[in-house]
Formats: sequence, C-alpha cells, structure tokens
Amino acid sequence: MSASVSIFTRIIRGEIPCHRVHEDALTFAFLDIAPLAPGHTLVIPRREVALLHELTADEAAALARTAALLAPRILAAVGATAYNLLQNNGSAAGQVVPHVHVHIIPRREGDGLGYRWNARSAAPEELAALATKIRA
Ligand code: 5GP
Repeated sequence: MSASVSIFTRIIRGEIPCHRVHEDALTFAFLDIAPLAPGHTLVIPRREVALLHELTADEAAALARTAALLAPRILAAVGATAYNLLQNNGSAAGQVVPHVHVHIIPRREGDGLGYRWNARSAAPEELAALATKIRA
C-alpha cells in the first residue's frame, strides 16, 4: 500500500484537477481554489515536505524564484497594484495543507483584506538577548 500523500502532491500528479499557471523541475504553481482575491496563486515545491526549513537550499531558492517570476504576471493579469506573499509553517501559524506553499495574494487599494498585526513594544535589552540566543 502506498503512503498517503498531500492533496498538493495529488494535484502535481494530475489526480486532482487544478488551474496550473507554471511548472518547472523543482516547483509547480496553480490558482487557489478559495481565493482571497482574484489571481490568488499557490507556489509549491514538487517534493512534499511540510515546512520551509525542510526544503533543500535549491528547492527554497527555486520556490522564491518562481514566486518572483509569477507575481508581476499575476498582477498584470488581474489588474492589481501590489501583492502579499504568505507562507504558513505549522498549524499554529495557520497552515492547513502540510506541503510547503507560498501564497501570492494580489492586492489593490481599499480591497478590505488585512490581518491582525498586534505589535507590542520591546525593550532593547530583550531584543539584544534574543538576537544573541538566535545567533548562537
Ligand atoms: P494554508 O492555510 O495551508 O496556508 O493554505 C492552504 C490553501 O490551499 C488554502 O488557501 C486553500 O484554499 C488551498 N487549497 C486547499 N485545497 C485545495 C485544492 O484542492 N485545490 C486548490 N487549488 N487549492 C486548495
């Protein structure tokens, strides 16, 4: 019996239909089935891993390259003026499909999209201690 694979691997294999906009040796891209805005696109690595840091350096670079290639094409296609890249890692971060994916979300002034960005202030000593810990 074959191991279970993600819905995105099944899309790459052609077992589930999608509206493909790009494919190359390392990546695949298609329109999101439930778009936040017209042109909302998902860019994925062909190899199925759940989290960004599980990609090889080449795969991560290819993912960024494909996103950068497609973004202006998508904006031109839908007449948007800006875009967000969103990349969720882990369920606490909102990831639902455990196969790395970059959302390209076209934006325009007054489109009403947004997210909670509950920033707080941080003491310089707190930031310095954290940076030291991360560098180590
Ligand atoms: P996440 O929350 O994991 O970052 O986002 C998963 C995304 O995959 C969602 O935006 C959802 O609409 C999209 N999605 C889930 N299943 C399918 C599918 O079968 N086809 C397509 N095209 N998109 C899907």
